Amino acid sequence: MQDRYFSFEFFPPKTAEGTEKLRNTRAQLAPLKPKYISVTFGAGGTTQQGTLDAVLEIQRDGIEAAPHLSCVGSSRESIRAILQQYRDGGIRHIVALRGDMPSGMGEIGEFRYANELVEFIRAETGDWFNIEVAAYPEYHPQAKSPRHDLDNFVRKVKAGADSAITQYFYNADAYFRFVDDVRALGVEVPIVPGIMPITNYSQLMRFSEMCGAEVPRWVAKRLESFGDDRESIRAFGLDVVTALCERLLAAGVPGLHFYTLNAAGATKAIWQRLKL
Ligand code: FAD
Repeated sequence: MQDRYFSFEFFPPKTAEGTEKLRNTRAQLAPLKPKYISVTFGAGGTTQQGTLDAVLEIQRDGIEAAPHLSCVGSSRESIRAILQQYRDGGIRHIVALRGDMPSGMGEIGEFRYANELVEFIRAETGDWFNIEVAAYPEYHPQAKSPRHDLDNFVRKVKAGADSAITQYFYNADAYFRFVDDVRALGVEVPIVPGIMPITNYSQLMRFSEMCGAEVPRWVAKRLESFGDDRESIRAFGLDVVTALCERLLAAGVPGLHFYTLNAAGATKAIWQRLKL
């Protein structure tokens, strides 16, 4: 149990009010002693300053911070400059991604896939950063085939990743199968399940459609049946996600990474139910 680790993910707030709300969320989650807190990065550099400000503030609070860095639409020069800013700020942990170009925004840039970013970070900064990459137990929505996606994941890890965080999922078997498949292909790094608490039916369905995560029919049907009854959605979501985490922990996962969406309530409630 001791060597399992738990981490939280935030996104950089866009307003002063959002910044205050995030500080409050952090104050509520800090006592849970996460191994680190990660902060997302808008593809094409749209949140570059916001991500930097947020991670520096987290580090100042004495919690390890891990900025995400997505490379689509970027030049080597701009990624080099961002890596330097993180190094100057004492950041040693990074989540390396391709990202998705916002529609209508600019050129692809000098990196096509995340494996190229991981290679670049290693070539530029050696062992300075602990590098996480993304994993997709239900496969990336643009993957040519499941096998192609697995091979691409393996390539990305072999480029120098230390560990991986998965896209969220509600089918534990998809995760177990993914881990078995990549272990058979020689991947040994920890693969930490990403956990998305359920608090809002329409938002969950929208996100899941975009990122290719399956919400099981029985879960979707039950959530839909609650209509605007947010309390029932919250209670049912808590049951479903707690049971998923229990199953994952019982199977010996290396840790859990919570997509908090900058709110403490649902993550804390799952935490308490798990008696972590
Ligand atoms: P890649 O690993 O590059 O894979 C993308 C697709 O290309 C896959 O279909 C893969 O099979 C294929 N592929 C990969 N390598 C090759 C290759 N060499 N040749 C041919 N095909 C290849 N997005 C953000 O913008 N900001 C964030 O902060 C952010 N954080 C995230 C955190 C986590 C934990 C996860 C799971 C996702 C996050 N995302 C974020 C979303 C992510 O950027 C998208 O899912 C994106 O579409 C893929 O990024 P990737 O790094 O997984 O890409």
